[in-house]
Amino acid sequence: GKVLVTGANGYVAVWVVKFYLERGFSVRGTVRSESKAKYLRQLFQSYGDKFEIVIVNDITKEGAFDGAVKGVDVIAHTASPFHDRADDPNEIIVPAVQGTLSVLNSALKHGGQSVKRVVITASCASIFEFGTTPRVFSEKDWNERAIREVSEKGKAAVNGDKYCASKTLAERAAWDFWKMHKSEVAWDVAVMNPPYVYGPVLHEVDKPENLNESLTLWWNAVVAGKLSNEELVTFGFGWVDVRDLATAHVLATTTPEAGGERVIISAGTYKFQDFVNVAHRLYPKLPSGNTSYDPVKAVHLISFDASKEHKLFGIKYHTMEEMTKDTLEDFIKRGWIS
Ligand code: NDP
Repeated sequence: GKVLVTGANGYVAVWVVKFYLERGFSVRGTVRSESKAKYLRQLFQSYGDKFEIVIVNDITKEGAFDGAVKGVDVIAHTASPFHDRADDPNEIIVPAVQGTLSVLNSALKHGGQSVKRVVITASCASIFEFGTTPRVFSEKDWNERAIREVSEKGKAAVNGDKYCASKTLAERAAWDFWKMHKSEVAWDVAVMNPPYVYGPVLHEVDKPENLNESLTLWWNAVVAGKLSNEELVTFGFGWVDVRDLATAHVLATTTPEAGGERVIISAGTYKFQDFVNVAHRLYPKLPSGNTSYDPVKAVHLISFDASKEHKLFGIKYHTMEEMTKDTLEDFIKRGWIS
């Protein structure tokens, strides 16, 4: 089979491409410009014509993916802005929502009988809501709060809420589109909802300052020692290794029952000090952080129920130790830690 992977140069996407290729799929990746294609062509050179790139310079334009979807069996839509630099929330909401709709529209009009499944890289951002007592969230939950915050406050909303609103609105748009058109198409939709994604880098990054959003947080906490002792033991969320999320995309493609499901892909909860503890044990010159931390006493207000994933896919998640070790080895290999 052949998979179209949108935003193929991203942190998550390059692992997704790699795992599809390793499992025998052909991959057509989209990137925004030729300059972003070169590195990928080189990285996946050994796959010959099983890997190709097409340029889609504006994913929000209607018909943007008309050419790209032709002849593919599966679409994995990962392209979506993830950063906290947006002033106007529409800077990230428009590409998230319109990008998703333009992929689905092209699949509707030009996917013919070939497209069987659309896998969407969504997020736990569209599931959880902030609260004051510990709560376990499942696929039944939707982040209505972020949408409300952004519609009430606009530019003044906190940046995290702008991103959460973009992912919630994009995922909702995908389900609404599919409900509206499912009788006309040969495909269904499977949505992957990961919390923070960490783990080694495979995409093109020249220096740590240019890491993607999630790894920047991890780098700042674990390597650069930029969090205060208080922040190290209170800042946290759910997490998953990028390689397990990539595996989930492949399993979402090959598991018929994943159709029509949103699926939380989460290894568990963390406080940044958990990663710092592992890192400092492996490399004593890295910061020790807050040495009074007791993980047993840590309060996780937000956690995610991954039981649907266990039933559907049964992923064996990388542990904190494995992820931290592999990530640090990668950073060392790049000369970022000496
Ligand atoms: P990256 O920033 O590494 O990759 C984002 C990808 O989306 C890039 O290919 C980027 O292209 C593309 N993109 C961003 N904005 C636009 C836009 N306006 N128009 C077209 N393309 C755009 O992020 P990740 O790999 O971390 O994220 C990938 C997906 O995973 C996203 O959907 C994100 O929401 C989701 N996710 C990520 C999590 C994480 O912790 N990393 C957690 C949960 C979900 P370009 O390089 O040209 O900008």
